[in-house]
Amino acid sequence: AEANEDIRRRIRTIPDFPKPGIQFRDITTLLLDPEGLALAVERMIAGVEGEIDLVAGIEARGFVFAPAVALALGAGVLLIRKDGKLPGATIVEDYALEYGTDRITIHADACAPGARILLVDDLIATGGTARAAVRLLRKAGATVEQAAFVIDLPDLGGADALRGDGIAVSALVA
Ligand code: 5GP
Repeated sequence: AEANEDIRRRIRTIPDFPKPGIQFRDITTLLLDPEGLALAVERMIAGVEGEIDLVAGIEARGFVFAPAVALALGAGVLLIRKDGKLPGATIVEDYALEYGTDRITIHADACAPGARILLVDDLIATGGTARAAVRLLRKAGATVEQAAFVIDLPDLGGADALRGDGIAVSALVA
């Protein structure tokens, strides 16, 4: 049987969401299943090398996995948020979308210089979001060398681009 087939079959594809032509990978079905959730978290953790101080989750679906992974690693959770959500002083990073730009933020004091960070999200597509997150965390002085995703869409090249940024990328399902 294919590796992680037990996870793959718990993820469904919804056509034409959020717009025509997009095949949206829906992980809500994976999350609803206790065994699926446990398998996904367990295997995300299994790919991690060395000590991690903070698991950085990307809003919103990265927030589901980051705390579970962090608890198992004995790490804290760093929230990477969309613009305008954090109450304290922030640093920001912008990234290009198909039309326009988007912005992610963290608190300026969220991580100590040299903090070892694992980046977590549900899915990597073009890599625009994850690569901006790495730039943001490095701007804050953190050490970011690993990223874990449930799903990679390899045809979109994001994981390879992220590897080019010096990140060891793991994904459970492609
Ligand atoms: P990227 O920046 O790599 O192009 O897109 C990845 C980001 O968009 C992630 O934060 C991810 O949650 C979200 N995303 C894009 N496409 C999908 C999809 O088909 N399914 C899910 N669950 N998230 C997606």
